Amino acid sequence: MKYIDEYRNSHSAKILAAQIRKVTSKSWNIMEVCGGQTHTILKYSIDELLPKEINLIHGPGCPVCVTPLEMIDKAIAIASTKGVIFTSFGDMLRVPGSQLDLLTVKANGGNVRMVYSPMDAVKIAEQNPTKNIVFFSVGFETTAPANAMSVIEAHRRGLKNYSILCSHVLVPPAIDALLSSTNSSIQGFLAAGHVCTVMGYEEYIPLAEKYKVPIVVTGFEPIDILQGVLNCVTLLESGKFEVSNQYNRVVKREGNSEAKKVIFEVFETTDRKWRGIGNIPKSGYKIKEKYSMFDAGNIFDVGNIEVSESPLCIAGEILQGIKKPMECSAFGKECTPEHPLGAPMVSTEGACAAYFHYKKLNTVIPAISEKAIVNSLS
Ligand code: SF4
Repeated sequence: MKYIDEYRNSHSAKILAAQIRKVTSKSWNIMEVCGGQTHTILKYSIDELLPKEINLIHGPGCPVCVTPLEMIDKAIAIASTKGVIFTSFGDMLRVPGSQLDLLTVKANGGNVRMVYSPMDAVKIAEQNPTKNIVFFSVGFETTAPANAMSVIEAHRRGLKNYSILCSHVLVPPAIDALLSSTNSSIQGFLAAGHVCTVMGYEEYIPLAEKYKVPIVVTGFEPIDILQGVLNCVTLLESGKFEVSNQYNRVVKREGNSEAKKVIFEVFETTDRKWRGIGNIPKSGYKIKEKYSMFDAGNIFDVGNIEVSESPLCIAGEILQGIKKPMECSAFGKECTPEHPLGAPMVSTEGACAAYFHYKKLNTVIPAISEKAIVNSLS
C-alpha cells in the first residue's frame, strides 16, 4: 500500500470489518487517542462497521481541546497588548476564552495574524523590528519540532522581538493518567501515529506492561483505523499486552532522532494542566532556561488569570472517554460549532464537533447501511 486511495478502499474495509467480527468474542473498550482518528471514525462511520461488542472511546488527543481556558485568556491578554503582533495557527483563533476569542481581539483592532508555520512568525519578527511578535505554540509532540526550530532560528538571527507562548502537551503521561484513574474502563489503545512518527513508541512499552493494555500505533485513514482495531482486538483476545505498530510505513520504534534533538535543545518536560482533566505530572514542554528570552509567558506580565468553565459543559468527561458527546444536554442546543460552549465543539478534531457534523446527520437518516458506509469510502 503506497497511495492514499488504497487506505480508503471499500473492498479492503469490508475484509477488515469481517476479520474484526471473526476475532471478537466479547466486549472491548478501545480508546483512539487522537482527534484526527476520531474525525476519520465519525466521517466514515467506522464505528457502525464494527461489531457491537467493540466500543470506541474518543480520547483527549486534540491539542486545541485540552489547552486550558486560562492559557487562552493569557493569549488574549497578550494579543491585546499594545505593540504586539500575535500569531497562531487558525484553529486556536476561534477557541472561546472566558470572555472572548482571538478573532474578536482582531476585530477590535488587535494585531492578530493567522500563520501556517512558526517560521512565518519569525519572518514577521524580522520585518517588524519595533513590534513584539508572539507565536502561540500549542500542540502535541508533533508540532514541537517546528516550534522549537523557530526559537533556534530566532536566536541564530539575533531577533530580540520574537517569543512563543508555550502550551505543549505530551501523549504518554496522559495515557498514564487515564489508565491510573479509578473511572477508567479502557482496555486497549490506538496510539496517535503522527506523534509516534516524531517520538517513536518506546515510551509506550512500559505503559502497556504496567497497565496490561495493548497499544497499537495507528494511522489516520479508514483502513489504518480498521487495521489498528483488528490488531488491538487480536491482542486483547489472546491476552497479549504489548505495543504493535500498524503505522509502520511511517513510524520507526525510535522515532525521528533529528526532530527529537531539536525538541530537547529548546524544551524540557514540565507538569501541565489539561483542560477537562486537570494537572498531569510531566505532561508538557516548557522552554529551557537557555532560551528564556523567547518565553512569552515570562516576558508579558498579564497578572493572575482565574476562570471557570460553563456549568453545562461536560468536556472533562468527554475528554476522558467517560461520556460521549450526545450524552451532553447542551449538545446541538446551547452548544454548536457556531456557538461553542466548550473546546471540543470548536476544533474540527474535537469529539463534539465530529459528532455534530457526522452523527447529527445520522439522527435524520437513522439506518445507515453497511453498504452505504462502505460506499462512502470509495
Ligand atoms: S457538546 Fe458543547 S457543552 Fe457539551 S461537552 Fe461538548 S463542548 Fe461541552
